[in-house]
Amino acid sequence: MAEIEINELQQFASDNYAGICPEAWQAMDAANRGHVTSYGDDPWTARAADTFRTLFETECDVYFVFNGTAANSLALASLCQSFHSVICSDQAHVETDECGAPEFFSNGSKLLVAASPEGKLTPEAIRELATKRSDIHYPKPRAVTLTQSTETGRVYTLAELRAISEECRSRGLSLHMDGARFANACASLGCSPAEMSWKSGVDVLCFGGAKNGMAMGEAVLFFDRASATDFDYRCKQAGQLAAKMRFLSAPWVGMLENGAWLRNAEHANSCARQFASQVAGIPSVRLAQPVEANAVFIEAPEKVLDNLRARGWSFYTFIGGAARFMFAWDSDPKRIEALSRDLRESAAA
Ligand SMILES: *Cc1c(COP(=O)(O)O)cnc(C)c1O
Repeated sequence: MAEIEINELQQFASDNYAGICPEAWQAMDAANRGHVTSYGDDPWTARAADTFRTLFETECDVYFVFNGTAANSLALASLCQSFHSVICSDQAHVETDECGAPEFFSNGSKLLVAASPEGKLTPEAIRELATKRSDIHYPKPRAVTLTQSTETGRVYTLAELRAISEECRSRGLSLHMDGARFANACASLGCSPAEMSWKSGVDVLCFGGAKNGMAMGEAVLFFDRASATDFDYRCKQAGQLAAKMRFLSAPWVGMLENGAWLRNAEHANSCARQFASQVAGIPSVRLAQPVEANAVFIEAPEKVLDNLRARGWSFYTFIGGAARFMFAWDSDPKRIEALSRDLRESAAA
């Protein structure tokens, strides 16, 4: 096979730039020995689902899909009828980065967007949207979705989650959590997965694998098991039922059974803190958000960012209006130092 040229130098534009961590890779290799039944009726998938139930210390219905857009959209669709609405932050991935998939898969459930400068929903914002109208002409609020950790790199405290879920409960709204970076939030709070999900009133959780070190795949966990009715059909219809399901499920066994999911997230979070502390005090550069998970958002004059780009660094500026740097399970501290140095020199140039 001809060599494909890859740039060995790490970039921090996205935590999806990283490859597959050894634990996930080894589990895929183990799953690759021999034949098993297809479409999820296999020992790896059963074991992965059981491992989730053990980790979350509860019975729950577990499904494996290819990516986060599908996980979020199908989970929300299972909570809503087409005439319902879903309350979310204006920064939410479901609103800004899923190309209308939640509305599409729910046959039209409308997203009701709350202005949230920090990227976090509040009970007040939920109350305002949920009570704004109660007449027949308005799409009936049925669910709330929040992202943990948020698109802006923030983490809801357990108290904040509970206040939100109480608000939901009192208004008959289901609570969905987009956990594309659930592991980073868990590592940040130092709490158990159970505390940050069902014990805080979350009904459905999408637990992200790709950004945590897998090749692909998200797990959808229904703590409210009634909402999972026929979810398998919904997945199949949406093209999300993997024929060789074991390659979506086995990596979770590798990630969860020996704690790699948490170690990976701890490493990524600590890299973000390292970068934030290295750039603190650079004139004209400031943090746009407190660093609470694996993201660092930087505000700097356009000239400084251009200088940084000219030194070969890539990063996004379309999220939150600042330059975003994301850290992953394999982020290299030496490379982060090089980035900090280049940012310092870009600011001085
Ligand atoms: C990355 C991400 C997802 C999943 O995106 P896909 O590209 O569909 O896998 C979902 N929510 C958030 C907040 C994300 O950052």
